[in-house]
Amino acid sequence: MKLVRLFIFCAVLAFLACNSSKPAAHASEVQSTAPDSASDIGLTPQQIDGAMNAALKVDPQRAWEFVKQFVATGSRPLGSAGHKRAEDYIHAHLRGDQVEDDSFTQDTPTGKFPVHNIIAKYPGKNPGIVVFLSHYETNIWLPKTFVGANDGGSSTGLLLEFARLLRAQVKNGPMDGYSVWLVFDDGEEAMQREWANDSLYGTTHLAQKWQQEGTAKQIKAVLLADMIGDADLNLERDHNSSARLQAIAYAAAEHYGYQSHLYARDTEIQDDHLPFARIGIPVMDFIDLDYGYNNSFHHTPEDTLDKLSPKSLEISGDVMLGTLALLDAGAK
Ligand SMILES: [Zn+2]
Repeated sequence: MKLVRLFIFCAVLAFLACNSSKPAAHASEVQSTAPDSASDIGLTPQQIDGAMNAALKVDPQRAWEFVKQFVATGSRPLGSAGHKRAEDYIHAHLRGDQVEDDSFTQDTPTGKFPVHNIIAKYPGKNPGIVVFLSHYETNIWLPKTFVGANDGGSSTGLLLEFARLLRAQVKNGPMDGYSVWLVFDDGEEAMQREWANDSLYGTTHLAQKWQQEGTAKQIKAVLLADMIGDADLNLERDHNSSARLQAIAYAAAEHYGYQSHLYARDTEIQDDHLPFARIGIPVMDFIDLDYGYNNSFHHTPEDTLDKLSPKSLEISGDVMLGTLALLDAGAK
């Protein structure tokens, strides 16, 4: 099966996930290019059903509680008291798990700042690692009233729900399938309003570290979640993501009847997946970059809990965990 790509070239679709960029003016004209069959991921329909029936599923109310409590830590720019509260919240909800801190000091255009990536590891029987990724800090240049409920909050809460599910899986030893690492990364946002060359600090550091250590070779996929809580959920087809992983995610969505939430728009997202893509790891960004009319809630104090829904956490989470289940089942 071939993917038919219908582009509208009338606009430069250079979306900046964490800049004040707006959705392409012509986004609504872009045809959906969703795969029309799951058969191109190397599994039979029976294999897909088998894998999906065994997939982990989020509890939307528990995921919502994590998001709500995490967002209550408030504004959390690098080096702030709010940032420390956010870190403490994440660590408290990973207690007893295998956790690695990747901490360093970063030079930025506005000075030196502490950057703290937090990595939780859940061992699997298969050689190889699948990484779920979310940034957790908020922009330093936004007012203190900015709490990033969707931007940083929704995906952090979702990953904490993944942690709860994975913890139960590894209670009696390694789980079936790949090892899973949850990365709560820091310093995704720019220190100044200009995003290029002043962002992705945590993931750039981690990608370099994983490349030097040889860890990168073991990683089968980096699945990034960003702004996945929008009550009006439309995950992008991002052209900086792996088309193969997008087809696998679509097969997972099909199993749940969630197709209408995927790939209505073709975009090109710059986000935390890029440092890993640059060192050859397959990546996918699960992101909805149309948050409020004309993306008007993005990077504003309007990014609050009332714009989100437990259902969107469930859809995003189950599609991501379904992608993991299909990778474990040998999807290609
Ligand atoms: Zn952002």
